[in-house]
Amino acid sequence: MTGERQQNVAGKAHDRPFADLPAGIRGMGQNGEGRGIPAGFSMTDRSYSRMKCPVCGEDCIKNASEILALRHEIFKPCPDCSGRTFDKQVPLPDISIAPPCSCGKRFIDEVFAHVYAIRIEEGDLNRQDPLRAAGIPLIHPGFAMASAPYLPEKSLVLLSHTITRQTADRLMAEVPEMRGVVKCGDFVPGIEDIDLDGIPEVHTLLAGCDVRANIFTAQTEPIVVYKQQSTMHIEFPRGYDPKIIAVGANVRKFEPRTFVDALCGAGTLGILGALLGVPHVILNDAWYAAAFWAAYNVRVNGEQMKVDSVDLKYDYEEMKQRPVEREPRLIAETTGEQSIEVYQGDFRQLHTVLPADVDLSVIDIFEKRDRELTRRVADEWRSRVGGEVFIP
Ligand SMILES: [Zn+2]
Ligand SMILES: [Zn+2]
Repeated sequence: MTGERQQNVAGKAHDRPFADLPAGIRGMGQNGEGRGIPAGFSMTDRSYSRMKCPVCGEDCIKNASEILALRHEIFKPCPDCSGRTFDKQVPLPDISIAPPCSCGKRFIDEVFAHVYAIRIEEGDLNRQDPLRAAGIPLIHPGFAMASAPYLPEKSLVLLSHTITRQTADRLMAEVPEMRGVVKCGDFVPGIEDIDLDGIPEVHTLLAGCDVRANIFTAQTEPIVVYKQQSTMHIEFPRGYDPKIIAVGANVRKFEPRTFVDALCGAGTLGILGALLGVPHVILNDAWYAAAFWAAYNVRVNGEQMKVDSVDLKYDYEEMKQRPVEREPRLIAETTGEQSIEVYQGDFRQLHTVLPADVDLSVIDIFEKRDRELTRRVADEWRSRVGGEVFIP
């Protein structure tokens, strides 16, 4: 695909800004090939750098070192880049669309103005709506930035409560920076309740691909964490993350042999433990998407760990068939000097599969303001599992 030329909004051809960024994902979804993930995936296998995305089947997932190498330049303007800054609280003053620069990037506000203009034309916004009504922009890859980004192709996932499929298709066709469009409901996707009550809901991917990465910076190792945005809650790295600092401090203090991340979400805290050199790390989440992406992120960051291979036992479609598990089932494990395991299950049943030598656990529960609940959870864990426990 290198050297392929694509049409920009003004109809003028321009080079793809980053030859090593994902190629176009139009026409995705029809191609069943590449959706499953090969079991027994060796870290030394050359195919490691060509991980197929489980959502779109394309090469939209890179390993951590590739993403990290891009991050200093990816959103920087070239000398010719320029762009207007708009007030998001008021309607766009005039509907005029500025095309991307010859370098292929465009200032985020200009991209947002383009989205707004298309949504006005499609009738899902009206001219009195403020610019921010165009949606929630999530940048790929997301990390703490000192200044507003200039976006290259396929770097924006847009979330909106009111968007239609027709508009989403048009955005994907006409706005080159668009990576995926998600219609969201009034809920946090996935499991909200510690007792696993209720049926978890997910947002709807309308067009493109909504798999994106966040880069979290710990004192030592940056961590790259992918997730499918429609299935997981929104988070964005701020450059200062108390949970990451807490894990770093506790791992250094207790030097655990076995570290458990009992409610792991997409895996950030457990993976940090592995990057800090803990020999045995166990991650767990009852929600299929969390457990899957945690396992996938072990693979994404695996080059920086002492692991030879990462074996995912189920593909994404198989995991989706069992969205919430109570009894823990092993869904991924590594071979090599460091042992990393990922389970899908209720964290309160995890003690049935844990080894006897767990010496540090992190339990990242949602309901932290409920002091009584957090104390009960930590006490119960101590009595069943033992070792040090902290709630970040
Ligand atoms: Zn994808
Ligand atoms: Zn430029």
